[in-house]
Amino acid sequence: MTEGVYSYSAVLMGSPILLKLFDDNPTLARQVFQLIKQQENLFTVNRAESEVMSINQAAGRHAVRVSEAVFRLISVAHAVSVSPGSAFNFTIGPVVKRWKIGFQGHAVPPADEIAALLPLTDAHQVILNEEDRSVFLQQPGMEIDLGAIAKGYIADVVQAFLRQQGVPQALINLGGNVQTLGAPPHEPQGWSIGLKKPFGREDELLGVLQVQGKSVVTSGIYERYFELDGKCWHHIFDPHTGYPLDNELLSVTVISDRSLDGDIYTTLLYGMGVEQGLAYLADQPDLDAVFVTRDRQIICSSPRHFQFQQRDFAWQLRY
Ligand code: FAD
Ligand code: MG
Ligand code: MG
Repeated sequence: MTEGVYSYSAVLMGSPILLKLFDDNPTLARQVFQLIKQQENLFTVNRAESEVMSINQAAGRHAVRVSEAVFRLISVAHAVSVSPGSAFNFTIGPVVKRWKIGFQGHAVPPADEIAALLPLTDAHQVILNEEDRSVFLQQPGMEIDLGAIAKGYIADVVQAFLRQQGVPQALINLGGNVQTLGAPPHEPQGWSIGLKKPFGREDELLGVLQVQGKSVVTSGIYERYFELDGKCWHHIFDPHTGYPLDNELLSVTVISDRSLDGDIYTTLLYGMGVEQGLAYLADQPDLDAVFVTRDRQIICSSPRHFQFQQRDFAWQLRY
């Protein structure tokens, strides 16, 4: 451990959680993990009870009133999901539950079963009522899944909590969703965040991203997947087909201010692919991204908000 760095870890939301502080403060670390647990209890769809589960269980029957935080995050997820051409769809739940990727019992479902689930993944059939903060899924069998957005949101909640506690500098990593606070002491280049080698060992890095006061979120096909018939079936779905997105990408990393945006954009850019993604980013001054491709390229958008130190030179780096 680097001198003066205190790391605290836990497993929450099925993910390894890491908190780095620059004071030995186990009480604060416990409070942070408690806060994450509270948030998980609102958003999870991996247990019978949560606010999101109460919406899902009432699908086709009635609207459910939820807390302000849940209503707000669902409103964001809804807006992103209904925007034209979006690869992000928060009503993907029935497809996620059927494939069970990352959970016991995963399998490639019969094509007709997948086709039959697609009508249940229509985000236009979610009715949001601002007045009483209620959410109604119009068809029985519809299910909200916030897996592609909630960790980003929660990383921002943790950042706000630490700031409110007067903590000058910290890093929180929610299993690939990194949010930072302040600047690390004695590190003029800022925070160093490793970019993992896809399908490599835990400590094998393609390189290191250096950022100042930014969030770094990575979505890859190599974290949750299974192999069958020589194919890698991973957990980022094409909402139009109900199958894992199949393109040139192994991972997408987004550098942004809010981790919420990072989480949303990894999924959106994953769907766009490299060329369309780079063109899109050219008009987004607040976002940067790093694409890692199957043909061993590391492709950085014009790096306004990060620097990249390459470590593995078997991969080709381009900007
Ligand atoms: P991202 O790429 O950000 O998101 C991928 C996830 O989003 C998928 O796993 C799926 O859930 C969903 N998704 C897939 N395709 C799309 C799409 N096109 N549009 C929108 N969403 C899509 N894991 C466990 O193993 N056990 C748990 O108990 C558990 N509890 C969790 C509780 C909470 C509150 C959250 C947020 C996550 C939990 N997870 C759990 C992890 C969860 O199942 C997802 O795997 C995880 O959120 C994926 O995050 P990511 O950043 O790796 O991937
Ligand atoms: Mg994510
Ligand atoms: Mg995401």
